[in-house]
Amino acid sequence: RAYNFNAGPSALPLEVLEKAQKELVNFNDTGMSIMELSHRSKDYEAVHNNAISRLKSLFAIPDNYEIVFLQGGASLQFTMVPMNFLTADKTASYVLTGSWSEKALKEAKLFGQTGEAASSKKNKYRNIPSIEEIKFNSDDAYVHITSNNTIYGTQWKEFPSTGDVPLVADMSSDIFSRPVDVSKFGIIYAGAQKNLGPSGVTVVIIRKDLLEKANTNIPTMLKYTTHVDSNSLYNTPPTFGIYMLGEVLKWIEEIGGLEAIEKHNEEKAKVIYDVIDNSNGFYTGHATVESRSLMNITFRVADEELEKQFLVEAKAAGFVGLNGHRSVGGCRASTYNAVPFEACQALANFMLDFQRKHQ
Ligand code: PLP
Repeated sequence: RAYNFNAGPSALPLEVLEKAQKELVNFNDTGMSIMELSHRSKDYEAVHNNAISRLKSLFAIPDNYEIVFLQGGASLQFTMVPMNFLTADKTASYVLTGSWSEKALKEAKLFGQTGEAASSKKNKYRNIPSIEEIKFNSDDAYVHITSNNTIYGTQWKEFPSTGDVPLVADMSSDIFSRPVDVSKFGIIYAGAQKNLGPSGVTVVIIRKDLLEKANTNIPTMLKYTTHVDSNSLYNTPPTFGIYMLGEVLKWIEEIGGLEAIEKHNEEKAKVIYDVIDNSNGFYTGHATVESRSLMNITFRVADEELEKQFLVEAKAAGFVGLNGHRSVGGCRASTYNAVPFEACQALANFMLDFQRKHQ
């Protein structure tokens, strides 16, 4: 197996892939692949509902929340959130912590009034604004944040309390990497393709009372209520993706749930951050230490030529996906749930060797 540090889609647990391979042409003795089953069949229905109950129990989602599986990625949620919840008399406030929050804000502007609750753009998105910096009005439609900034490698360690204003979070790149107090949020959404499964499924967790206030004069497929009312079976869901998501959740359960996953993720990120911190400036992290992500480790190598060489040599040594996002350059190691500790240790050793050879 490659040392896969891709930012997304990214590594999946080997055990899950092997189980899927085994069941691929004959799921549950049906004589058919999971992909060939009707989405209205009992066999598929069990897979679908199991995935929902596992999401609920692992993430401790309270009963006053609905869970839906949608398509269109997190990017469609940038549109659906304001389309459903931004009304003419209100403002939606966005905390800008990177390109994905900028994209979310851009969509909201198409639907109504928006504001910037805080921004770390001036600091090249190296940090998450402090809770005290976040400004919004008590009658705002919602406050939107991005819990982990995949491109810049920053992550919220503590979430703001927004009182009666619903807090909306794009958790695409760190959902299920740690326990979260879901009751702080009005809406949580995430594309599955980093920590939850293959691309093609988007998980949305939404507080029930918000649904009652949602805009109604919008297209059927873009209304949350359409999908809530039909248990995400209004139209054909991405059945294979939902099956895989359920298997990934089972894997998380088997390794001890989100507390165990968080500890594992901390240990993995530490071996790489330690190399950066002890390199005397040979490697420099992009994010400020307090805002560092446990999912995406962004760094630069001493000079541009060496950085190019680092990426070439790393690729030749079997490390995949270490190039930084095309918009910012540099290097990025994405250490999502399914990336094993051994891969992180191997990368740390490679970085030490490279520094020894080239310093
Ligand atoms: N939000 C974040 C934080 C992301 O990392 C990404 C993709 O990498 C997106 C949104 C876009 O997600 P999608 O490709 O599912 O639309």
